[in-house]
Amino acid sequence: MGRTGLSATRLTDEQVALRDAVRELTDERIAPRAAAIDEEQEFPWDIVELLAQHDVLALPFPEQYGGLGGELLPLCLTVEQISRACATSGLILAVQELGSLPLLLSGTEEQKQRWFPDLAAGRALAAFALTESEAGSDAAALQTRALPDGDTWRIDGAKRFISQGNVAAVVAVFAQTDADPEAVRAHRHLTCFIVEKETPGFATARLEHKMGIRGSPTAELTFEGVVVPDANRVGDPGEGWSIAMRTLDRSRPGIAAQAVGIAQGALEVATRYAGERRQFGKRLGEHQMVGAMLADMATQVEAARQLLYTACGEIDGGSVDASRWSAMCKLFAGDMAMAVTTDAVQVLGGYGYIREYPVERMMRDAKITQLYEGTQQIQRLVIARDLLASTE
Ligand SMILES: Cc1cc2nc3c(=O)[nH]c(=O)nc-3n(C[C@H](O)[C@H](O)[C@H](O)COP(=O)(O)OP(=O)(O)OC[C@H]3O[C@@H](n4cnc5c(N)ncnc54)[C@H](O)[C@@H]3O)c2cc1C
Repeated sequence: MGRTGLSATRLTDEQVALRDAVRELTDERIAPRAAAIDEEQEFPWDIVELLAQHDVLALPFPEQYGGLGGELLPLCLTVEQISRACATSGLILAVQELGSLPLLLSGTEEQKQRWFPDLAAGRALAAFALTESEAGSDAAALQTRALPDGDTWRIDGAKRFISQGNVAAVVAVFAQTDADPEAVRAHRHLTCFIVEKETPGFATARLEHKMGIRGSPTAELTFEGVVVPDANRVGDPGEGWSIAMRTLDRSRPGIAAQAVGIAQGALEVATRYAGERRQFGKRLGEHQMVGAMLADMATQVEAARQLLYTACGEIDGGSVDASRWSAMCKLFAGDMAMAVTTDAVQVLGGYGYIREYPVERMMRDAKITQLYEGTQQIQRLVIARDLLASTE
């Protein structure tokens, strides 16, 4: 490990160059904005523009649509480096991938040509709308309904907690497509549709006030008689559940990357502080209990990072255990980030608790990584189910 605290294990020269370029861009242009983005709770369109200018939003997409290839590890390296300074900004790229994955996985050639060039160029943002008020962990219980009408579909319902749902130009929406209103919970009746921002009947009803990632808008979306052409249906009718689950298998490492980045940022602040502040006539880090905290934090961050990079390789390599790798890296990294950022506040003492230093923001931001794209309990269910399936 070099003096940057970043291990180069498993990375190609090209990946190291990407990581370092994003790190530099982040330090120069994003880090100085991070506190204000949190304070103002406004979506940072200037950061979207910056990421677009530097082709960062092209990372999730294949080259033929103006993308940079769509490999998971470069994407996660980038989310990690941005989140090291600003978790809200790191999430912009993670959500761009999340919202586009249904199309990447099951879209037709025509659909990809229609939407990907704008998404890859950062001229348009994507969002992913699965969760509803009564269907969180139990996503299959969702009640938004889409009924066929000639060569169109009419969508009615509401989605809750949709990251960037109000600023996205294209939203992947999951709906029940069984005509029987009692037929909820039926995985086989879920279908995915692309709803475009300006479609009549589609609206943002509310934005949430949150503990962390406060620059990232979290929207309640409503659909009242929203009519979309059949050309906006992603995959076959009834394929929605499979699309949603395959999407999460590929997107959860992005959240693990966000968690590793937040924790790395907190570790760096805590280390600097422990190297400078003196109490009882010596530097804080020279008090063994403080030094031990830093040692544990660094070890935990690196363990999560290596699990994440391995998971990316396994998933991109087409592992049959992709669900398990994805859930394991998100589980470990999310819990690690919560513990490490809490300890970073401890290392700074009272100064860790006040807004002047960034670790209290990092601690608030870390919490969401244990909650979204499936809570930590749901990751454990996925891992255990996968392990047991191998014994059948
Ligand atoms: C800021 C933010 C952004 C989000 N962005 C998006 C987005 O872009 N798109 C989207 O579709 N969704 C999004 N979500 C929704 C998120 O994925 C859900 O909040 C999450 O899946 C949990 O659902 P819930 O909040 O309804 O909690 P619940 O499902 O009600 O769970 C409450 C508690 O019970 C536990 N629990 C539930 N079921 C079980 C079980 N079977 N076994 C053990 N424990 C269980 C949970 O782990 C949790 O601790 C976002 C949420 C937030 C807060």
